[in-house]
Order: sequence, then structure tokens, then C-alpha cells
Amino acid sequence: MRFHIVTIFPGLFAGIFENGIVQRAQAKGLIQVGLHDLREFTHDRHRTVDDRPFGGGEGMVLKAQPLAEALEALGVRAKAERAMSIPTLTQETRKDGAPSHLAGQTRVILLSAQGRRFTQAVARELATLDRVVLICGRYEGVDERISQLYCDMELSIGDYVLSGGELAAAVVVDAAMRLIPGVLGNEASGEFESFGVADAEITSDTEGVPRSQHGAGGLLDYPHYTRPAEFGGVRVPEVLMNGDHLEIRKWRREQQLRKTLANRPDLLEGAALSAEDRRLLDSIRRERA
Ligand code: SAM
Repeated sequence: MRFHIVTIFPGLFAGIFENGIVQRAQAKGLIQVGLHDLREFTHDRHRTVDDRPFGGGEGMVLKAQPLAEALEALGVRAKAERAMSIPTLTQETRKDGAPSHLAGQTRVILLSAQGRRFTQAVARELATLDRVVLICGRYEGVDERISQLYCDMELSIGDYVLSGGELAAAVVVDAAMRLIPGVLGNEASGEFESFGVADAEITSDTEGVPRSQHGAGGLLDYPHYTRPAEFGGVRVPEVLMNGDHLEIRKWRREQQLRKTLANRPDLLEGAALSAEDRRLLDSIRRERA
């Protein structure tokens, strides 16, 4: 899978993509990250990427022309053009080397505080694609015509305003790439983290076996501990050290329910809950009351 990031600050990504899982995923050839300096697509001496807003007001706006040229150089055509052409299985390749028949598997995304909320579900959707092109705004934002003409979606990583789209792009790449098969050592582990698939297939609901063995089920993750068994006067819960895996699974499920109820009760609505989960939730609620 390829990620292309269009930015005026490609240098900002150096540390982020040169360490940890994202670096290993690149080394294994599972992902490629291309950084594209927007100033390379300007034609004046000052390499100008911004201009004053029509209608007046504070700040500057990223100009449409360099962004459009950067996108076209990546083989991204305007939406209207894309809609008219029928993808063909030809050997023709685009400027970034991707075969033209993959065009339908590309998403062009503008990072924006006004965008749709970026969630694990969106990350999952992106992880199935061949190419994701991420446009990083700066200043007051991006000339609206870029979104209108080229973008498939606008994504916001949260309800706050950043100085630029670069940190948001890094978040999107990180969250999506770790869901690509082979990127994490344990392929299933993405399912067992917070926001794991809510509608995971449940094969056993008997003997009170919690569903946590099937995935996080749309809940937050349970607490994790490692050695030493005691730290700062706090002992690791005894159940985690007794080797009884059924008890451990039950405890972890209860902790998931507790944490989700305390921090993100909104997630409970869409979560995959067994009858046992609901009973537990009721008793946690009574206890809290
Ligand atoms: N005037 C814009 C507004 O009020 O929505 C804010 C512009 S912000 C200073 C500059 C750029 O940072 C945006 O164009 C966008 O690319 C990025 N950005 C800011 N907040 C973001 C967020 N929550 N999620 C994604 N990108 C964000």
C-alpha cells in the first residue's frame, strides 16, 4: 500500500517514519510512504504556495494551483474526469508507477478540522486500499476548490485545531498501516485492541466465556501489566498471575466494560455485548451508583 503526503514541510515526517513499526513496514515492502514538497509545484522565484483570502480576513490560504499540479503529478485526476473514465486493465502506468487499473483503489483525502471524524473504522477502510493521498493544509486552510475538484473525503483527527495537517497525516498513516496484514507481528492483534471489530463473529457464548477472546468487540482495551509484580506499592491483580486463562479472560472483559463505561460510554451502544456482558455492566452501574 502506498501513502502519498503532500505538504510544505516534508522534513517534519523524518523522525516519525524512520522508527518503529512504520519503518519496519516500509523495510518489509508492505507500505511505501512518499513525501511530496508542495513548493516543487510552484513556478515563481519565491516558490509561493499561499495567498490572501478572497473576501478579506485574517491569514493566508494554500493556493489551488500547486496542489492541483502535485495531485496530477501523482496521477490523481479531477473527480469529474475520474467519474467519466472506465478503469481498464492496461499496462499503462501513472507517474508514481502504480498501474492505472488501481485508480479505483485510491482515496484522496484532505486533512481538515472540518472533516469527518477519523476513527478506527475509517482506518480499517483505508487499510484495504492500494493508495491513499493525504493533503496537509496550513495557515487558514486550503482553497476550497481542491476539496471540491479532487478530494474523496475530508478527515479530522479530532475536535481541535492543529497548525497544519502533517501531524494528522502521520496519525492516519500510522493507524491505517498497522491494520495491513503482516505489519504487526500477530496479524490478529489489531482486533484485540481498543475499538476492535464490534461485530466480530461470536462462536461461543456458553459457560460465561466472555467475548474478549474474539476481539475487543468495539470496546476499549483492558489494562496491561508487566514485571515487576509490585511497583510503587501497587500489585498486579492476582488473577493475572494464577495462570487460569478462563478467569483471566473474564477479568479482562470486565475491565474493558469498566473502562468503556467510565471513559467512553458512547461506545457501548455499538459494541458487541453478550448477555453476560450486559449483566456485568448492570452490576458495574449499580456499584458506581
Ligand atoms: N481555519 C481552519 C478551521 O478553522 O477549520 C483551521 C486551519 S488549521 C490552522 C491549518 C491546517 O491544519 C488545516 O488546513 C488542516 O489541514 C490541518 N488541521 C487542523 N486541525 C485539524 C484536525 N483536527 N484534523 C485534521 N487536520 C487538521
